[in-house]
Amino acid sequence: MTYCTECQTEWTFKDKAEMYKTLDTSRKCPYCGEIQYVSLKSKRQGSILTFLFIFAMFIPAFFNTHIITHIILALAVLVFVLYLQVALIKLSGKE
Ligand SMILES: [Zn+2]
Repeated sequence: MTYCTECQTEWTFKDKAEMYKTLDTSRKCPYCGEIQYVSLKSKRQGSILTFLFIFAMFIPAFFNTHIITHIILALAVLVFVLYLQVALIKLSGKE
């Protein structure tokens, strides 16, 4: 669950996804207008997820899989990682 640090309103998945759309780590709370930042913990989590993605990209290289399988797997992992990034985001009142 992701709550605004100011008004304690829960942010929807869409609210959080907007944060990544702009590539900015801050966004005005859609409910109270207070600026919210992606917390440091979420940023760290993000780098771990990115690492997982890169790692998953190389797994098929160890097996003799078809390039299509490789691409499908990469896309599936990418979607999964992006979803987790947004779903697990936590907000912070300051940068
Ligand atoms: Zn708020």
